[in-house]
Amino acid sequence: MCSLVPKYNVPGPRYTSYPTVPYWDTNGFSGLTWKESVRRSFQESNDTKGISLYIHLPFCESLCTFCGCHKRITRQHSVELPYIKALLQEWQLYLQVFEGKPVIRELHLGGGTPTFFAPENLRMLLRGLLRYADRAQEWEFSFEGHPNNTTQAHLQVLYDEGFRRVSFGVQDYNEAVQQAIHRVQTFEQVKEVTHLARQIGFTSVGHDIIYGLPLQTSADVAATLKKTSEIRPDRIAFYSYAHVPWLKGNGQRGFKDSDLPTGPEKQRQYLLGKSALAAAGYAEIGMDHFALPGDGLYRAMHAGKLHRNFMGYTDSATQLMIGLGASSISDSWHAFAQNVKSIEEYQHLVNSGVLPLLRGHLLTSRDEVIRRHILDLMCRFETKWNDNLSTYMRQTIIERLAEPEADGLIEIQVDGLRVTDKGHLFIRNICMAFDLHLHEKAPDTRLFSMTV
Ligand code: SF4
Repeated sequence: MCSLVPKYNVPGPRYTSYPTVPYWDTNGFSGLTWKESVRRSFQESNDTKGISLYIHLPFCESLCTFCGCHKRITRQHSVELPYIKALLQEWQLYLQVFEGKPVIRELHLGGGTPTFFAPENLRMLLRGLLRYADRAQEWEFSFEGHPNNTTQAHLQVLYDEGFRRVSFGVQDYNEAVQQAIHRVQTFEQVKEVTHLARQIGFTSVGHDIIYGLPLQTSADVAATLKKTSEIRPDRIAFYSYAHVPWLKGNGQRGFKDSDLPTGPEKQRQYLLGKSALAAAGYAEIGMDHFALPGDGLYRAMHAGKLHRNFMGYTDSATQLMIGLGASSISDSWHAFAQNVKSIEEYQHLVNSGVLPLLRGHLLTSRDEVIRRHILDLMCRFETKWNDNLSTYMRQTIIERLAEPEADGLIEIQVDGLRVTDKGHLFIRNICMAFDLHLHEKAPDTRLFSMTV
């Protein structure tokens, strides 16, 4: 399989949405059309499926040089309250759009570092949001925890507010790698905070492990996963470092390009990690995710209910996802919208009573058809031709997939296509064959990270 890596290792999207953000077409998108699409989606799905809420908490005390998130580095905690005030104000603006009381099925705190915020401020934020909403019968509240600053008080407050899932960013335990990415945290710290979360009552603890980091070797990946399997997190996100310094500015300049493992070495790290995780009892879930039997994602995959949105893989197939906070992305199923990225501009706009929209996209019926195929591929590694894809479009896609088929990555069948085990690593490349925007608008290779 290693010989296929140079051929397929090209820049490509991770498909947390279709169309992907760089290919959104802002024609016809406005505050008005966005609100209409939210209202429509709310009417269609709030009572039956509930809605998802993503809250972006963008502050971090120190910069990790592998980071691709929208964040502000500061040690000034005076930023917390004005930002929370703005989040609550933005929620009020959405409450005016909904026609009824929202039912929250899924709520996720991401960042940035959610645990940058004091526990009592997080409590205030959550109570301020949930005061105007009902919880779905089965809800899932989760957050991203930084092992270095997630305290017992954070875990307890979030548990008391209904959180049962936490994921900790681990990356790699080798100290030289940690120094290179400017994220030093020991195995003992991670073990302790994982233990604490479980003791308090969190039922799903996840660890994020990255391969392809500067100075990282296959031996480091093996050692990190060996330690990880001692703690046995319920879920593991094991994914490739996305090196895009031209998009992420100075944040990704803490090391030299020559410190990065090359394609074949990265491939070894992936294959080694994948077999170590399988040997430790983890099942592969979609792309880059692994879970123990019993975890919600594992159950969702087996029930054919796995879903993917801007938060990644999820077992809640809500139709409406509202993203609050600077740079957050919302998905109404009929349209996408992204908030302005500057924290000052975000706060100014919401405090003036305006939804802080930067850009968006209204989905066409053709987008909806392609999205269904890409979602099926990303969540189930197969798709069926049972929809309105025109014969011409289907033929074009099949022609684009001739090489992956010849290389044994997919099997094209009369009623659809199936991705083989060998093809799992190249799932992004396979989805790219369906991506009409990418093919029609002359792909800009600098917009995406490498697919392998
Ligand atoms: S990796 Fe997390 S903690 Fe580090 S800078 Fe990025 S958002 Fe902040």
